[in-house]
Amino acid sequence: MMKTTVRPKYDVSKFTNWKDEGVYPFLPTIEQTSNNYITITDKGKMLMFGSCDYLGLSQNEYVKERSIEAIREFGTNTLGAQIFCGYTKIHNALEKKLASMFNKSSSILFPSGMAANLGVLSVIATSEDVIINDRLNHISIFMGSHLSGAQLRSFPHNDLRKLESILKQSMDKRKRIIVVDGLFSADGDYAPLDKICELSKIYNTMIVVDEAHSFGVVGPNGLGVAEHFDVLDQIDVIVGTMSKAIGSVGGFAITKEEIAEEIRHYAPSYTSSRGSVPAVAAASLASLEFIEQHGKKLRERLWNNTEYLINTLREEGFNILDTCSPIVPVIIGDEDKTVKVANWLMENGLFVATMIPPAVPVNQGRLRIGVTSSHTIEECRRAVKLLKEVRNIYEF
Ligand code: PMP
Repeated sequence: MMKTTVRPKYDVSKFTNWKDEGVYPFLPTIEQTSNNYITITDKGKMLMFGSCDYLGLSQNEYVKERSIEAIREFGTNTLGAQIFCGYTKIHNALEKKLASMFNKSSSILFPSGMAANLGVLSVIATSEDVIINDRLNHISIFMGSHLSGAQLRSFPHNDLRKLESILKQSMDKRKRIIVVDGLFSADGDYAPLDKICELSKIYNTMIVVDEAHSFGVVGPNGLGVAEHFDVLDQIDVIVGTMSKAIGSVGGFAITKEEIAEEIRHYAPSYTSSRGSVPAVAAASLASLEFIEQHGKKLRERLWNNTEYLINTLREEGFNILDTCSPIVPVIIGDEDKTVKVANWLMENGLFVATMIPPAVPVNQGRLRIGVTSSHTIEECRRAVKLLKEVRNIYEF
């Protein structure tokens, strides 16, 4: 049987060349962040289209105040891991809020989305099981899958025929666990969860969905892609993070109590790593409350901006794959060209995320544009204008 490797190794000499040429795109030092703009040391102030702050909540005054209050009440850290003495009344309220939003019995907070995937997947499967991954799943899902000791299989992105053939070959396994990102972080498209749920019924599988990019953004109440397809009740574990639309940090898993109990006892990224500090948990809780009150309006603005940007870039002939979300990939291909294009944009006042291997396959370098609810249409226009200018120079 084919084994899925975590990711192929990549030639690091390229990074050295880019550094020498002054186009190395990583680790810019941020001096200041304000609504829709960042200032980077030695580069100056630029329009920000490279974040996942989809609802603009990392700059929200209500959220900031609640976070500051938590520092006043609890200090800057907790006094231990959550299971010992790091679980405050804020963490408790946050878990309850998450579980009630999803109408599930339990939720568990992790230090990050990465830690949530490591913890959940390492615990729910054993060597008697098979974990079946979409090949574009986030790296933390592959890492968690490896930790479980289960047999690992994978299918080409959203290829349900291949998924079904793997399921047919896996009927001797104790458990078949399908894992997908709800909204794929590099391509911006959805997992077809309605069809995956149909397969799940036929082949009796568990389903885990990582709603990292879709939580707060997709679905009538912003609960994610499972809500969009109206299959929330058929998902065994929902994993998410506060680090995108929620404007905070921290991972979570939402599931039924039996699974949650097992994770709380056995997931090392839960038991043996410090959880969110109170200020961070308070920011997450305040954000969720703010979303309950104002989410509909924020999502309306986000989706208007998204529609404008997607339609305009398609009309202008950019290759943006099949994105249907605020993650808009602009495909360039060659990695060298990708970093140079991103650098030109930065020098001309536009920040976008640069995606090259190992984050995406070789020769599929791209810019990842992150649309938010706080962008204006005028700012979207400016971004498109700069993208057209840079395309004329670098021809992609
Ligand atoms: N899952 C997906 C799909 C992601 O894109 C990310 C972050 N890039 C994570 C999990 C990890 O989230 P965190 O930053 O909270 O560790």
